[in-house]
Amino acid sequence: MAALGNPKKTIEVLQKYHFQFQKKYGQNFLIDTRILERIVDAAQITKDDFVLEIGPGIGTMTQYLCEAAKEVAAVEIDANLIPILQETLQEYDNVEIRNEDILKTDISRLAEEKNSGRPIKVVANLPYYITTPILMRILESRLPFANITVMVQKEVADRMVVGPGTKDYGALSLAVQYYSRPEIIVQVPPSCFMPQPKVGSTVVRLTRHEKPPVQVNDEALMFRVIRASFNQRRKTLANGLHNFSQFSLEKEEIESCIQSLGLPVNVRGETLTLEQFAELSNRIQNKICIK
Ligand code: SAM
Repeated sequence: MAALGNPKKTIEVLQKYHFQFQKKYGQNFLIDTRILERIVDAAQITKDDFVLEIGPGIGTMTQYLCEAAKEVAAVEIDANLIPILQETLQEYDNVEIRNEDILKTDISRLAEEKNSGRPIKVVANLPYYITTPILMRILESRLPFANITVMVQKEVADRMVVGPGTKDYGALSLAVQYYSRPEIIVQVPPSCFMPQPKVGSTVVRLTRHEKPPVQVNDEALMFRVIRASFNQRRKTLANGLHNFSQFSLEKEEIESCIQSLGLPVNVRGETLTLEQFAELSNRIQNKICIK
């Protein structure tokens, strides 16, 4: 099967199988070889690597991944794409096609079975309707990954890389930056896809930190503090945390934690750095423990 990364070949395959695009699965297939090469290049894949591809579609990027990696697992939810993938990937003996929902796949187990628990690489042109849940699941799962190279909606990429004090800064920025170093690789216009999405897209690479950039005693608590802080953006941090019923702390106790960091009592959550959230959650933990 010849390379698929162009409109003519993609249409040929789709017509042969009478394939109907399913909007609910966020199906926008890549038809630009330069972008495909940029993605595979950014993922820094070698012949030693096991790669997980999320949502292979008709296998356009999968062909590149099979050429570059030792082994590939391609997880696709749409059963109608499986016979297509079996044909477009037939010449590769280093790929496993799995008809599954990635949100239900035990990715850590897959990495353990396929790569003996060594760091894997994740590559995807993600379905935009579930970008955040997929990324959060991978980041929080303790999956050993070296890097994650993904195409996402431009606005989501912006949220991953920004720092405090901007409108895009939030729980996703902090989770991504706690676990990894995000980098923008390339901006991708709608014309590179079939059908064309209504939004611009961006390829980002998340390189896993060797060790977390901040010292935090209880990661889960820090992420609860972060979520509580951004839940009610227009409220002060103290109010946001106090209204979040999971912390059984008096408002004065929360305010004293905030002030002990040298921050004004009416500070808003979106101005805090990752270091400040880590320190704040350590102090909240102490207060909860002492109680
Ligand atoms: N990788 C292909 C490409 O670049 O041309 C297709 C990318 S398309 C944006 C997203 C793909 O993810 C589609 O094939 C879609 O069916 C698949 N998908 C959507 N939701 C999924 C899920 N929950 N689990 C696995 N695959 C999913």
